Amino acid sequence: MTNKSKLNNNKRITKKERFDFIIDYFSNNNPNAGTELKYTTPYELIVAVILSAQCTDKRVNMITPPFFNKFPDINNLAKAEEKDVYELIKSCSYPNSKTRNLIGMAKKVRDIYNGIIPDEQKDLMNLPGVGRKTANVIASVVYNKPALAVDSHVFRVSARIGLTTNAKTPLDAEKQLVKYIPENKLSVAHHWLILHGRYVCKARNPDCDSCEIKRVCRYYQKNMSVLKKN
Ligand code: SF4
Repeated sequence: MTNKSKLNNNKRITKKERFDFIIDYFSNNNPNAGTELKYTTPYELIVAVILSAQCTDKRVNMITPPFFNKFPDINNLAKAEEKDVYELIKSCSYPNSKTRNLIGMAKKVRDIYNGIIPDEQKDLMNLPGVGRKTANVIASVVYNKPALAVDSHVFRVSARIGLTTNAKTPLDAEKQLVKYIPENKLSVAHHWLILHGRYVCKARNPDCDSCEIKRVCRYYQKNMSVLKKN
């Protein structure tokens, strides 16, 4: 019996039932969800994720091919001139600070980590331009570690569905989510929630009519009960 059929329409669902339904739904419908950033090596992924802060994956995927052509690895980027990096990433948001962060990240990886992108969250967060979200993406996508990165989509979608309650910060949301999502699903859950936020539960106009998880969504249930009262 699936979680869908186990749910009783007349009963208020518990948080655990809500999580179980979502995990069951996405496991069946998008079991291999992954990043939409294009990369072939850990170096390329960390560059792409740094560039993706406040920028769309689509834009980043336009920037990275010529970037990786000119700077194919950590050593090349560590030796780069700021003006050359800036020129290639200037169509992205915050190109000045991203230029400094990319070169700084490459120098640190070259000088402290022997040119290898580290796999521990604390080491990753030691790199310029790498916060907790980026560190978790690298740890989970590259090194298969049980980490859940909370970006703006994950933060918004989790709050709307009711997977989190009154989370004030991404770290707060992360702590609430990891309590209910099994370790072996943490990495893919990040992609489920991002993709759901990008294509269905959009920031301005969530497409609730076509959303297949609406029956467990707190936002949807609240709005429906308001409509019924009026
Ligand atoms: S029902 Fe609406 S608010 Fe809820 S997850 Fe789906 S799109 Fe988002």
